[in-house]
Amino acid sequence: MRLVWLRNDLRLADNPALRYACAGDGPVAALFIISPTQWRQHKMAPIRQRFMLAQVDELGRELAALGIPLHLLRVETFAEAPAALSDLCRELGVTQLYANQAIEIDEQRRDHAVSAVLAEQAVSCHWLNGCCVLPPGRVLTGSGEMFKVFTPFSRAWLKALDEEGFVIHRAPAPRGEPLPWQPLVERAWVDEGLGELTPDPRWPVGEVEALRRLNIFLEQAVLDYGETRDFPAIAGTSVLSPYLAAGIISPRQCVAALQQRLGYRPQSKAQPGFVWLNELIWREFYRHLLVLIPTLSMNRPFKPETADLPWSWDPDAFAAWCEGRTGYPIVDAAMRCLNATGWMHNRLRMIVASFLTKDLHIHWRLGEDYFMSRLIDGDLAANNGGWQWAAGTGADAAPYFRIFNPTTQGQRFDPQGEFIRTWVTELADIPAAYVHQPHDWLRLKGRRDYPAPMVDHAVARVRAIEMFRSLEK
Ligand SMILES: Cc1cc2nc3c(=O)[nH]c(=O)nc-3n(C[C@H](O)[C@H](O)[C@H](O)COP(=O)(O)OP(=O)(O)OC[C@H]3O[C@@H](n4cnc5c(N)ncnc54)[C@H](O)[C@@H]3O)c2cc1C
Repeated sequence: MRLVWLRNDLRLADNPALRYACAGDGPVAALFIISPTQWRQHKMAPIRQRFMLAQVDELGRELAALGIPLHLLRVETFAEAPAALSDLCRELGVTQLYANQAIEIDEQRRDHAVSAVLAEQAVSCHWLNGCCVLPPGRVLTGSGEMFKVFTPFSRAWLKALDEEGFVIHRAPAPRGEPLPWQPLVERAWVDEGLGELTPDPRWPVGEVEALRRLNIFLEQAVLDYGETRDFPAIAGTSVLSPYLAAGIISPRQCVAALQQRLGYRPQSKAQPGFVWLNELIWREFYRHLLVLIPTLSMNRPFKPETADLPWSWDPDAFAAWCEGRTGYPIVDAAMRCLNATGWMHNRLRMIVASFLTKDLHIHWRLGEDYFMSRLIDGDLAANNGGWQWAAGTGADAAPYFRIFNPTTQGQRFDPQGEFIRTWVTELADIPAAYVHQPHDWLRLKGRRDYPAPMVDHAVARVRAIEMFRSLEK
C-alpha cells in the first residue's frame, strides 16, 4: 500500500506526491492530519482553517470517486504526528509514504521525526517539491549562497527555469470502484473545537474555482497588471493567494497557463505578463529564504543587527491599528477590509505594515502575527518576508528609510477615495477632495465620528530614521 500525505497541496492536478504515489498498480490511500492546537499555536486564522477544511472535504469526495480513500487523523500537535502515522501505516500495511516537502521549521522537524519513525518499520518516505516552481534551495549565487536581494534572484530563477523546464503532472486516473465519502460536518470528532466547517460563500473552494479565477485574470487583467495592480479599488490582481496558500492550485499551473496565454515566457519588464510572473518569483524568493535561513521561522530578523531596534509594544496603539482607528483613512480602510473579509490588497499590506512599524514604531512581529490570525492566505514565508521588508529588517535592496507616507499613498493609489469610502463608512459622504485628510471637513460639519490622526506622520518618520541610525553608532 502507498500512502500520500496531503498538507498544503490540496489538489489532484499537478500534485507530485499524489502523482508518484499513483504510479504503477497497487492500492493507494491518502491522508490529511487535523492538528487544531498546533494550528492555533501557529496563529492560523479561523477563516483560513475553514477554507482549508472545506477543500479537504471537496478533495476527499473527489478522491473517493477515483477509488482512493482519504483518511483523516486528528492529533493536537505535530509532536503526536509520528506515532499516529506509524499506527496508521501499520494498520493499512503501508510500505511507501509520499508527501510534498514542507518548508517551515516546525513542519520540517515533524517530517524528519516521521521519516525516522517510519524507517524503523521499513516504510520509505519520498519528499517531493509541490509548493514551488523550482525547489526551494535550487537557485543560489555562483558561490552557492542564497541571494540576499530579489532582482538578481529573479534573473537567476528565470535562467534556471530555462535550463530545467518543468512538467505539469496530470490528476490521477480512477484506481477502482468509487468509494463513499462522509462529509466533515457529519463527523462529530472532526469539528470539536474547530469552529465553522461549512464553506464560506465568499471564498468558494475547489480546483475548478481556482482555475476559473486564473483564466478570468489571464483574459485581460494580466496584460494591464503593471498599471492597475497597485489600485485597491480596481480588480487588477488575481486574488489567487488563498488558493496558492492552500495548494488548491500550484504555482507551476499558474506559470504554465501564463505561458500558454502569452505564447512565450516573459523574461523582462518590457514584455507583457512579466510583472505578474515576477510576483510569483517573489513567492519563490521568500520560500528560498525560509528554507535556507531557518531562524526566519523563529521570529528572528533577516538582518541580525536590527534585533536591537527599540521597537514599541504599546497595546493601545496596536489595538487602534488592528481595529482601523488610526485616523489615517487608507490605513483604517485596509484594516477594516482585512477584518471583514480575511484578505487585503498587496499595496495596502505594504501601507499598513509601514504605518505600524515606521509611524507607530511597533514591533513587526505583532503585525506579522495579527495578519496570520486574520488572513485567509496566511503563509509564513510571504507574510514574514513582507513584514520584514516593510519594517526594514528584511531582504530589501533599498535602505531602511523606506517609509510610506500614508496620506500621499492614499492620494496616489485610491485617488477618488472609492476604497476608503467602502470600508470607512464614517467617510462615505465626504467629497473626494477631503477624503485623505478629512479632519478639517469633519470639524466644519461638527462631526466627531472619525478619530483624529493618532500620530503626526512627519514627526514619526524622523523618529523611525533616528531609530535605525542608532544602530550605526
Ligand atoms: C506585510 C505583507 C504581508 C503579506 N502576507 C502574505 C501572506 O500571508 N500570504 C500571501 O500569499 N502573500 C502575502 N503577502 C504578499 C502579497 O500581498 C499577496 O500575495 C497578494 O496581495 C495576494 O493577492 P493576489 O493573489 O491578487 O496576488 P497577485 O498580484 O495576483 O500575485 C499572484 C500571486 O503571487 C504571489 N505574490 C504576489 N505578491 C507577492 C509578494 N510580495 N510576496 C510573496 N508572494 C507574492 C501570491 O501567491 C499571489 O497570489 C504579503 C505582503 C506584505 C507586504
